[in-house]
Amino acid sequence: MYRRLELLTRVSEILASSLDYEATLRQVAWLAVPELADWCAVHLVDTDGSVRVMVAYADQSQATLVHALERADPPPPGQAPGPLKVLRTGRPVLFPRVGEEELAWLARGPTHLELLRAARLQSELVVPLSARGRNVGVVALATAEPGRTYTDADLALAEELARRCALAVDNARLHRETQVALHRKEESLALLDTLLRGAPDGLAFLDRELRWVRLNEALATALRTSVERLVGRSVAEDAAGYSPSIEPLLRRVLETGEPLVDSELSGASTLAPWQPRHHLMSVYPVRNQAGEILGIGMVLVDITARKQAENELRQSEERYRRLVETANEGIWLVDTETRTTFVNQRMAAMLGYQPAEIAGRSILEFMAADQSLARERIRRNLAGISEQLDVPFRHRDGRTVLALGGTSPVTNGRGDIVGALGMFSDITERKRAEAERDRLAGANAVLIDELQHALGVREELLAATSHELRTPLAHIKGFTSSLRQPDVEWDEATRQDFLAEIEREADRLSGLIGDLLSMSRLESGVAQQHPRTETAPDALVSAGLDRVRGLLGDARVRVDVPPNLPPVLVDAAQLEQVVANLVENAAKYGPSNVEIGVTAAQIGSELELAVEDNGPGIPDDDLERVFDKFFRARTTEQSGVPGTGLGLAISRAIVQTHGGRVWAENRPMGGARLVVRLPLEPTNARGPR
Ligand code: ADP
Repeated sequence: MYRRLELLTRVSEILASSLDYEATLRQVAWLAVPELADWCAVHLVDTDGSVRVMVAYADQSQATLVHALERADPPPPGQAPGPLKVLRTGRPVLFPRVGEEELAWLARGPTHLELLRAARLQSELVVPLSARGRNVGVVALATAEPGRTYTDADLALAEELARRCALAVDNARLHRETQVALHRKEESLALLDTLLRGAPDGLAFLDRELRWVRLNEALATALRTSVERLVGRSVAEDAAGYSPSIEPLLRRVLETGEPLVDSELSGASTLAPWQPRHHLMSVYPVRNQAGEILGIGMVLVDITARKQAENELRQSEERYRRLVETANEGIWLVDTETRTTFVNQRMAAMLGYQPAEIAGRSILEFMAADQSLARERIRRNLAGISEQLDVPFRHRDGRTVLALGGTSPVTNGRGDIVGALGMFSDITERKRAEAERDRLAGANAVLIDELQHALGVREELLAATSHELRTPLAHIKGFTSSLRQPDVEWDEATRQDFLAEIEREADRLSGLIGDLLSMSRLESGVAQQHPRTETAPDALVSAGLDRVRGLLGDARVRVDVPPNLPPVLVDAAQLEQVVANLVENAAKYGPSNVEIGVTAAQIGSELELAVEDNGPGIPDDDLERVFDKFFRARTTEQSGVPGTGLGLAISRAIVQTHGGRVWAENRPMGGARLVVRLPLEPTNARGPR
């Protein structure tokens, strides 16, 4: 008994000496022989299910048999034949005597059975190796010495031994697993650290108390702080200026277990408060295998630079948008297919549209120009050529809008041409103004022509009349000088003659000047502005005759004007002048006792006034020309009768401004007949009576 207790102590010592349980179990097996058994077989079931058997034996001559036993009929995987059957029940087996039945129970197969027979086993017990509820194998003890039979006391001892062995195996295995787990954990932490270090984004792990447990440099940099400063501290204590905003977010993730993805954070660093920062933060719960939340993982992406770039882009876009929208010019952008990608308000309004109505449509639809020409222009723009051109667009209402445009290609960031840009200003109005100006310039040109013509007439008139004007002046000067001669004493009769000459020439001069003034008034049109009144023909005739009464001398004037003739709407003073001119000529060119006839009659819708004489008449060739300015018949020039050649020209101008006509004819019985015809007012144009 003492030896047996000593054995157990020894076994415990061996088991405690090393964690190499296979080696210690082998030692234990050998300790059991021969004290407890002649044969001892320890069957170990590994974690992967494989079985190893360690055998110790008392009779050294049986080594060959032992090796044969070990190799015979190895159990197929997953099966537990022979003593391993104990693993299933977990209960020990005691065979005080081993017969054929027991051998059959113990054998793994036929070969094994044969070998077992050869081993001449007497008594056998099999106990499970069981610790902490886990079966790690079995221990089989057998006696070969005849009469050595196992008892319950042996079984109890064997069970105690097995218990200690099983505990040692389990301890060793646990230790090994722990070691492996620790190793794995270290490996994964190392891997995690490598990942954290290498990650471009900020990564962190915080525990349930929201303390920074692990974080990488990228995160510390993003928060403008250091890893050392944060580790171990809570977010509430230090989140580099973000704590007020992120703490509630983190708490919510802990409470709900729901991740928070891409939450945008903006704030100022406590280290650089003047620099606003922007981050995208994602937070997710980190759980253990049981699903309990251990803490939270955080991914922080610094988007400050991106935000800044976005801001700058937005600002620059805003500036361009304003520029484009308020531009005084129409702006039109097309893609390479001539489709409108943008058109500003100004451009759209120029053609009577809203920008939205044009967007997406081809610019060609809005062009009034020959389509192929327009297409060719755009093709040139898309080929990279910029130009200035006039583009005729079609307004919504159908009219053409002429625009002066500058076009240029539009390129993308890589320099590829992606469209064309046109900037247009409406020059329809300008073109119209230019055309108007040209037209006015043309009209002015006409006025200038007329003016020059009028000036030319005046020159001509002056040249022609200078002689006529100088002649009476020369006479007046001559007679006046003679009268004033200090050394000559003129008798009274001569003095009277001289003075009469002076008076006559002065009258002539006055008449000439009067004619010239009348002529220029008529030609300038001023005379036409006099008011016209309804005048009876007999009144015209008698007033006209009154004007020349003093010039008639011995002439006899016969007037034949019926008093009931319809009135004419005339400038009476001018028509009286015409009558006077004609009567004066008749008196002037006829003989001293000339007979002058003045008649008036209604001929159809006209009033005819005629002045006839029995003078020399007018050469037939000159009947028309006597109405030209300054024209005098050659015979008249030779006769020495004074005149300017303006009287008939003035008369014709007056008659024509009244819508009438005048002509000269010679009477069959001799003498001239000057005829004036004036239109009668329709209401006054009664039939002839
Ligand atoms: P003026 O009498 O000053 O020469 P007018 O124009 O009155 O100018 O007449 C033009 C010309 O017509 C006269 O010079 C004259 O040759 C001719 N003429 C006009 N009236 C008569 C007339 N009754 N008889 C003959 N010749 C006339």
